[in-house]
Amino acid sequence: MHITFLGAVREVTGSMHLLSTANDHLLLDCGMFQGSRREAAEKNSVMPFDPSIITNVVVSHAHIDHSGRLPLLVRKDFNGHIYATRATYDSCRYLLPDSAKIQESDARYLNYKTVKRAIAEMEKEGGLRQRDAKKMRAMLKENNSHRINDAALSRFLHKFGLKEIEPLYSPGDADSALGVFEGLPYRREITVGRDTTCTFYEAGHILGSAISLIKVKEGDKTRTICYTGDIGRFDKPILRDPVKRFAETDRDVDLLIMESTYGNRDHEEVADLKPRLRQVLNSTIEGGGSVVIPSFAFGRTQELLYYIHELYNEKSVPRVPVWVDSPLAANITQVFAEHPEVYDAETHETFLKSGKNPFNFSQVNFTRSVEESIAITRETRPHIVISASGMCEAGRILHHLRYKIHNPKNTILAVGYMALNTLGRRIVEEGTRFEDEGRKGDPPLMRFYGKQYPLLARVEKIGGFSAHGDRNEMLRFLQDSNLNIKRIALVHGEKEQSLAFRDFLVGHGYDVVVPKRGETLDV
Ligand SMILES: [Zn+2]
Repeated sequence: MHITFLGAVREVTGSMHLLSTANDHLLLDCGMFQGSRREAAEKNSVMPFDPSIITNVVVSHAHIDHSGRLPLLVRKDFNGHIYATRATYDSCRYLLPDSAKIQESDARYLNYKTVKRAIAEMEKEGGLRQRDAKKMRAMLKENNSHRINDAALSRFLHKFGLKEIEPLYSPGDADSALGVFEGLPYRREITVGRDTTCTFYEAGHILGSAISLIKVKEGDKTRTICYTGDIGRFDKPILRDPVKRFAETDRDVDLLIMESTYGNRDHEEVADLKPRLRQVLNSTIEGGGSVVIPSFAFGRTQELLYYIHELYNEKSVPRVPVWVDSPLAANITQVFAEHPEVYDAETHETFLKSGKNPFNFSQVNFTRSVEESIAITRETRPHIVISASGMCEAGRILHHLRYKIHNPKNTILAVGYMALNTLGRRIVEEGTRFEDEGRKGDPPLMRFYGKQYPLLARVEKIGGFSAHGDRNEMLRFLQDSNLNIKRIALVHGEKEQSLAFRDFLVGHGYDVVVPKRGETLDV
């Protein structure tokens, strides 16, 4: 049998690997490439195989860079089943339809840009008077708001003969994918192909995340492939740590396909997370300010709630109101509450034993409607807002920033990765620089909603929330687990991280390769 590495190879998104046996083609993850809208749209639209040949898909976890192209696969004549853990399936029930909506809004935005560019060109070449161009641009927005007017957009696309970008998939495609999706328990061997089984083990990365152990019988031989998906950190709250004890019959692994996101880095200590959060909350609230936290709806938000709940119980920070302002985060928090079977002993001890929900306490409010969301901006007493998107690129976080960014009493707290060219990245970089220079001179200006806002709020960053193990934690997974590993293929890391991690592991005696995209390995 052989395995072909099709995505998240020498990069971090678009996880997808094809395992081909004598009888089957199994897909390990079917993730979305993420990055600039146009580049992602191009990379995602191509499936590098005929989807009808795929027998089944095994999904490591619900993050969109691992699951986001499932609706596209189903739309393109895939006829098999999708297997994952129960919590991954339940998370995908919200994340895939949400992703479909993002696809639609991204396509709308790209089409809007195309029309605007066409108008600008016609104006420049003298084919359109300035006054008419201005009128057309105004028509593209719904009564002077920042919302795009769909009817006008499609009229102009048609009128100018411009190529319309279609969304990658629709909410209907997401529903079709969920229709063939099955959630299964951890540590139970399931059949995923002829003479091929899969067992899920805890990966400790995100709710439902799994390390997939796949065994293929070929004649009288059995070959084992272990796919880590993303590997979490040790000793974090809520989820159990990455697995150490595999079943006796699963211990001999021919090929371990392993992530390497932080192959050359060390994270802040997990033990420092809570004290750092306590310090940021106390200093802001005591000064009469509020804390705004841009956060991913899935995972990071629930972790924050867990820590804030603990700090409130310990009475070590003032119990100000907390708003979780993201309908997706509210739904996902519900999914977390429905899966206590995956929690670690600490969570059972601190909350579940006394009948408490770790993510819900009397000061927390989950807002769903836009009206409720807007009402938060009128709150004058200190409070905490957790809202998406995590990199401040879109969503409700923007209107909280609009109301809070100019006030030096407030704090913007970054708890996640901010990609290059995002507003979140600019806030962290410029805010830190302004702070380091003693807050002298003009504050940095942040541009969003078509306006400039002075960044006077304090900016703080807590790095240790990462859901990925650093290089020492990944080594710990290898050394502490009872696996006998013949060979390792590193995926899911920027090139320099993967190559550095290869050297690091070779130094510890492992046989390691870093495949290129499209490369095939025989097992
Ligand atoms: Zn992940």
